[in-house]
Amino acid sequence: MKKRVLNAWPSTRASPQGEWVSRLVLETTALPGDIQVERFCEGQGLDHVLKVTLYDIGLTMAEDDILVADGLIKTVRIRAGENSRSVNVEVILEHPVEPRVLANPGLPSTVEIILPRDPLITLFTGHRIGIDPGHGGRDPGVRGPVNLLEKDVVLQVAQELSSLLKQSGAEPVTSRQGDVELDDDARRRVLSEGRAELCVQLHTSADKDPMVQRYRLFVKRDCDKSLALGTELKSALKERMGINIPGHEFIEDTRWSIPVVRIEPLCLSHFVDEANFRAPLFRKRIAQSIYNGIARYLRKFGTA
Ligand SMILES: [Zn+2]
Repeated sequence: MKKRVLNAWPSTRASPQGEWVSRLVLETTALPGDIQVERFCEGQGLDHVLKVTLYDIGLTMAEDDILVADGLIKTVRIRAGENSRSVNVEVILEHPVEPRVLANPGLPSTVEIILPRDPLITLFTGHRIGIDPGHGGRDPGVRGPVNLLEKDVVLQVAQELSSLLKQSGAEPVTSRQGDVELDDDARRRVLSEGRAELCVQLHTSADKDPMVQRYRLFVKRDCDKSLALGTELKSALKERMGINIPGHEFIEDTRWSIPVVRIEPLCLSHFVDEANFRAPLFRKRIAQSIYNGIARYLRKFGTA
């Protein structure tokens, strides 16, 4: 029987040695005859491409473009090679890394492409990232059609985001950890005492019309860094979640001394958005998108 690639999936995990890695696993009926790895740059020097060719093996799964957007891998393209006697896997990366490829015999066999997430740790280490989930306590914020509350939604996103940042070596500074009520001054004070260098305020949108899905972004007026951060968050949410934020509005509060943006990546008055949010994977994706936006901002403006 001819050897075949059956399936492919990405994941991130801490390796048994405690190393944090992105992984692409290819499930196969038997191991390929040979595996070759090439690295090159594509486009404006921003994308690093890893080309892995599996020889003497065909493709059973459909040719596919897998959107990963985990902060290191952007996408994975899987194509059948010439005469269906090889399989080409192209991994599009945001940072150059040295891959390891493991061939694990078994039923099924797997080929693992392992990518250390060190560039993200280098990028984030030492950065103090402010996270300000809105509302709390007696102030619930928006109430969804089935009673999901904005104060709880934004707190959960803040917690997911905070753990991603910690894993990357950053120091998240969060205005509230629990269901407590804080005024604007108290929020600013927590962030300033934690020496946050920027602030992402988390809210959800709402509309009087329950059929409308709208998403909003606010940036500090006359602040180039706020605008840059907001723009990165917007494009990361579009890329990962398909969320369209039409433009941006302004935060009129002039008391913020650091770049600040307010993002509303969920329309809680819409029943689909409310239902989606109850899935843990969806919450993780929103947090991952915000993380990706912060990472791209830091690559441009991150030198302290
Ligand atoms: Zn709000």
